[in-house]
Amino acid sequence: MSVILVTGGTGLVGTAIKHIIETEPEGSRFGKRPGEKWVFIGSSEADLRNQEQSKKLFEKYKPTHVIHLAALVGGLFINMKKKLDFLRDNILINDNVLHNAHELGCKKVISCLSTCVYPDKVDYPLDETKIHLGLPHESNFGYAHAKRLVDVQNHAYKDQFGDNFTSAIPTNVFGPHDNFDLESAHVLPALMHKCYLAKKNGTPFVVWGSGKPLRQFIYSRDLAKLFIWMLREYDDVEPLILSVGEDEEVSIKQAADAVVKAMGFTGEYRFDTTKADGQFRKPASNKKLLSLIGDFEFTPFDKALEETVQWFQQNYENARI
Ligand code: NDP
Repeated sequence: MSVILVTGGTGLVGTAIKHIIETEPEGSRFGKRPGEKWVFIGSSEADLRNQEQSKKLFEKYKPTHVIHLAALVGGLFINMKKKLDFLRDNILINDNVLHNAHELGCKKVISCLSTCVYPDKVDYPLDETKIHLGLPHESNFGYAHAKRLVDVQNHAYKDQFGDNFTSAIPTNVFGPHDNFDLESAHVLPALMHKCYLAKKNGTPFVVWGSGKPLRQFIYSRDLAKLFIWMLREYDDVEPLILSVGEDEEVSIKQAADAVVKAMGFTGEYRFDTTKADGQFRKPASNKKLLSLIGDFEFTPFDKALEETVQWFQQNYENARI
């Protein structure tokens, strides 16, 4: 029997993995396999910053495998304001998870980094070899250093004990159960929420910036399948970028157009070019992923966005807004 513990199981990525495990046919490529027990936990079950609670959690479920998603996650503003919280909380969470997984003799742990922990000054496209090649951007150095340390810890556990610990590096994720709070949301859920309010209140839909920057977005349900594949097939300590291709970049304008279409918004829609654009593009290469996984079909961006908008409209009352 395999027991797969998913930390952060109540978040955007965790609920997507749960959805895939519960809806794909049993025994199929991404469905639940015989002998597998999946456990999805959120912070109400254990505060993973706390050593004692983390130990109890691992003793309760005795996982053989861990997909470790739990993290203090947030947008730019909150990252800038609370650098020590982002550093310390994430260090504690990661250390408690990896230490207990090691003590219990877990067969595999996949932790989660992010392309936003890469060096500020780096040659593009990003690939798996460039994580530590320079300082992260000053705005999120707490989060970035804590996340980078996971890769350092994975190597140390492997070198000293031979543990099979590794990490995944997703680009921008979106999908059902995202954080739609306008203060702290990432760009896509923020656009959806703004457009929703513009439609409801009969006000203009104003997008910040020129709309020109390009980003790689991955649908949470595609990312979920990639995590499930990694759990079963990927046994290397080196991290793996989980992303759509560099040729699949979408401009903020394309994204906003797609939101307008999916929402059926017909009111005034414009760009506020007095607001900052951020970096023009920061492409990540998914060559390593494609060379390993063989055939994999990403959901077309417009379709994934439409599914997310539908979910948001249907679940507005209970969504994270
Ligand atoms: P969410 O914010 O949606 O979810 C965070 C999860 O972590 C929740 O389940 C939350 O539990 C849990 N959590 C937070 N603090 C604690 C704690 N102290 N103890 C136990 N559990 C805790 O995050 P995402 O799903 O977006 O992110 C998942 C992973 O993916 C993270 O590691 C993140 O860094 C990474 N990532 C995300 C990207 C994105 O665009 N969203 C991009 C790249 C990487 P609860 O809700 O119950 O409190």
